[in-house]
Amino acid sequence: MTNFDAKNPPQPALIDSCVHCGFCLATCPSYRIIGKEMDSPRGRIYLMDAINKGEAAIDHTTSQHFDSCLGCLACVTTCPSGVQYDQLIAATRPQIERNQTRSLPDKLIRALIFNLFPYPNRLRILLPLLWLYQKSGWQKLVRSTGMLQKLTPRLAAMEAILPKITKSTWSNDLPDVIPAQGEQHYRVGMVLGCVQRLFFSPVNEATARVLTANGCEVIIPASQGCCAALPAHQGQEAQAQALAKQMIDSFIDEDLDAIIINAAGCGHTLKEYGHILADDPEYKVKADQFVSKVKDVQEFLAEIDFTAKLQPITSGTLNLVYQDACHLLHGQKISIQPRGLLRKIPGVQLREPMDAALCCGSAGIYNMLQPETADELGRQKANNLINTGASVIASPNPGCSMQIQKHLDLEGSEVKLLHPIELLDYSIQGKQL
Ligand code: SF4
Ligand code: SF4
Repeated sequence: MTNFDAKNPPQPALIDSCVHCGFCLATCPSYRIIGKEMDSPRGRIYLMDAINKGEAAIDHTTSQHFDSCLGCLACVTTCPSGVQYDQLIAATRPQIERNQTRSLPDKLIRALIFNLFPYPNRLRILLPLLWLYQKSGWQKLVRSTGMLQKLTPRLAAMEAILPKITKSTWSNDLPDVIPAQGEQHYRVGMVLGCVQRLFFSPVNEATARVLTANGCEVIIPASQGCCAALPAHQGQEAQAQALAKQMIDSFIDEDLDAIIINAAGCGHTLKEYGHILADDPEYKVKADQFVSKVKDVQEFLAEIDFTAKLQPITSGTLNLVYQDACHLLHGQKISIQPRGLLRKIPGVQLREPMDAALCCGSAGIYNMLQPETADELGRQKANNLINTGASVIASPNPGCSMQIQKHLDLEGSEVKLLHPIELLDYSIQGKQL
């Protein structure tokens, strides 16, 4: 008798497709750091099987091993048997949320995250306070005394990745329609993201400029909200479905060639709407239509005629390292396109880091919920990037950027970190880094 409830449990056929060979273990970041079988893909699949057969319960002991999974999908890339671990963990997480009572501190931090981060308008209200916190010297004091770390390590982890807030952070807004420069060849929608639009607004501005410089009219519906990545990755099914519907409704009436996203994690979730809304008769077809148009900005630019002229952005050779975001590399199989685009910039030499395919530890909100494992992964990632000798890191995901920047700072590194689209924008504009 299964211990999963009846609502979309992990499919036994998918569980049984694992032949327990263990090839995935070496590429699994949680296994690398924690070192226990139950914190590996194979171990988690064993656990799912045991719960499905009624041999294990959904309780704290078992759910901690699902919580320790970063959802990086490296195991999906590695598995020679084609095990769909992504579908298995996506089905397991809502089961955990429904059937396991979390501790009070866990509930509180999750409530804070789920009621704040997916709502840019709520987050925007906090920005002046965060600006004041940084500007007044409070941030320095809090960090130097380590008081937050002693009180609550998870809040400290949240604080540690806070990017620098400037007044432009909360005063930015892109227009609803941006015309193509020169002849128009495409009409594309643009998803702004939540963290991206508030903390990395220059990335969105650069994206719009690069698209328009390549013959795109850019449509930015004001009604768009969060892509649902954050609740979807944490098994918050109802919230993820509501946000996905809002996103679809914002774009569905526009006649678009593509819907563009510049954040790897958001892009992967946007492409998953067919699964997120699979049981919704009204939205399933709309979701499939929406998904058919979603493109990561680098994926899109690699497919079209890149007509904008590119100029050098440094006086000599620019040694650059591209940081693979898991939800692009493993989730969307996009790794050649960003490198190809960056190589177009005159004078760029690309370097490759060790363990390029290993997660940086950001993984959505993982670095706030599991700070110890995330910190060790972040430390390793920052060092592998620094050791390439590159002077600039190109990072295509805001979560990875915040995590890596934190660890670059801790290592005392001054290597610059930018989104690949910002580098292309510099090059089109003829600006120097
Ligand atoms: S998930 Fe794939 S690689 Fe990992 S143990 Fe199972 S069959 Fe082997
Ligand atoms: S998704 Fe990543 S962390 Fe989770 S089991 Fe697979 S490789 Fe490990």
